[in-house]
Amino acid sequence: MQNKNYYNVIVVGGGISGSALVFTLAKYTNIKNIALFEKYDTIASLNSNAKGNSQTLHCGDIETNYTLEKAIKTNKTATMVENYGKLYGYENKYMFKIPKMALGVGKEEVKFIKKRYKKFKKAFPYMEYWDKEKLAQIEPALLKGRDKNEEIAAMGTTKRWSAIDFGEIAKSFVKNAQKENDNLDIYLGKEVEHIKKLGDKFELMVAGEHYYADYVVVNAGAHSLLLAHQMGHGEDYSCLPVGGSFYYSKIDSLKSKVYTIQNPKLPFAAIHGDPDIVHSNTIRFGPTAIVLPNLERYHGSHFLDFLETLAPSKEVMEVFYDLMHDDDIREYAIKNFLYEVPGIRGKLFAKEVQKIVPSIGEDDIEFAEGIGGLRPQVIDKKAKKLFLGEAKIATGEGIVFNMTPSPGATSCLGNAYKDTQLICEFLGEKFKKKKFNRELVEPKEYLNKETS
Ligand SMILES: Cc1cc2nc3c(=O)[nH]c(=O)nc-3n(C[C@H](O)[C@H](O)[C@H](O)COP(=O)(O)OP(=O)(O)OC[C@H]3O[C@@H](n4cnc5c(N)ncnc54)[C@H](O)[C@@H]3O)c2cc1C
Repeated sequence: MQNKNYYNVIVVGGGISGSALVFTLAKYTNIKNIALFEKYDTIASLNSNAKGNSQTLHCGDIETNYTLEKAIKTNKTATMVENYGKLYGYENKYMFKIPKMALGVGKEEVKFIKKRYKKFKKAFPYMEYWDKEKLAQIEPALLKGRDKNEEIAAMGTTKRWSAIDFGEIAKSFVKNAQKENDNLDIYLGKEVEHIKKLGDKFELMVAGEHYYADYVVVNAGAHSLLLAHQMGHGEDYSCLPVGGSFYYSKIDSLKSKVYTIQNPKLPFAAIHGDPDIVHSNTIRFGPTAIVLPNLERYHGSHFLDFLETLAPSKEVMEVFYDLMHDDDIREYAIKNFLYEVPGIRGKLFAKEVQKIVPSIGEDDIEFAEGIGGLRPQVIDKKAKKLFLGEAKIATGEGIVFNMTPSPGATSCLGNAYKDTQLICEFLGEKFKKKKFNRELVEPKEYLNKETS
């Protein structure tokens, strides 16, 4: 096709998922013409920005909602991001070795941590068991003001690159991709309004202009499902946008990332404390979780898009009904709604924080305005269930849609690998897996043993 607006692959969305894919395509394939469309003027201005997420590389070692098998898988994709950072020298620039731990409070949780530590130590040999005395040395704020009879223990490490500025990493993916491929076009401030299948190509409508591609990957956060529905794909899915807010601590309380024990029904819902890597001397507590009628946090004009993406139906109502009939989930939803209500939220949230730092009071925290993104949680209408992780609609027709709630930033390169594989198979192009594995995966084998 002879057209200046024609590409082999178009990627929609310049968050960390879209940027990681563009990097992988540019560096590890021979695909010639690639374009990325991002609706805002900068790469990673929403959820992938350091303001939007918790800045944690989720390796599976402190995420207590993961089984050992899931943790091992997660660790492999997380390690790709670490290896990428090392390849380009981003240590202590965009990635930081902040100590991290999963903290158990009270007899039952301490028992849980002990058992989990034993089970995990072979696969995660760098993890250590930290009892009360050790914690008093590593993180004294956990002990200050705590009832001396209350048991606490943690499994943690000081050895991993645990904190990542995913926004800067996303920008670096684009910059490094441009060095690899002269035919990569980055369109900023360009929203893809509509996608249409046209014979064996796709036509994308962007600000009155038409662009064409053999293959399209939509990595547009909550908008991915909107664009899918417009094309008649993903009709069995609905999107529930869940906003997450943070509180800043005004006192210098923690030096580590302190995660608490997750309720398996509510993964990534338990709050944690994290030293903020872009605001020095600031500790963040959160995130909260609140369902919002919007596809983007802090941008107000998407209510109709929200309705279109939620696609309310009998099945969706049944999922809500089931969720609200679970005591834990109902209590969690009410509590988290109240954490957003000015006037009462500080006092209520301080109680939540006291599980981690007992001496913190209402006056020591403040709601972090404008901080925190939105997780596009997907409802599977057929199974009448909330998807607890990422969702992919691989149509097999040359277009893929990705929805990436937590820990989507950590799995950006793992997802890019999968999509690159789909694209190369479809277009008959070569994926240089050996090079990808050597640079980003080694010394461990990842995903499959195939080399090329
Ligand atoms: C409170 C919170 C805490 C989190 N903490 C962590 C964490 O610690 N670790 C972790 O790994 N993950 C975390 N996550 C999840 C993580 O932030 C996301 O999974 C990740 O940022 C998703 O990246 P993405 O590129 O898929 O989406 P996004 O970052 O949302 O990017 C999508 C992009 O698409 C663009 N776009 C949308 N529609 C269009 C269109 N029509 N045309 C062109 N462009 C379009 C948007 O402008 C945006 O830039 C957290 C999320 C939240 C909300």
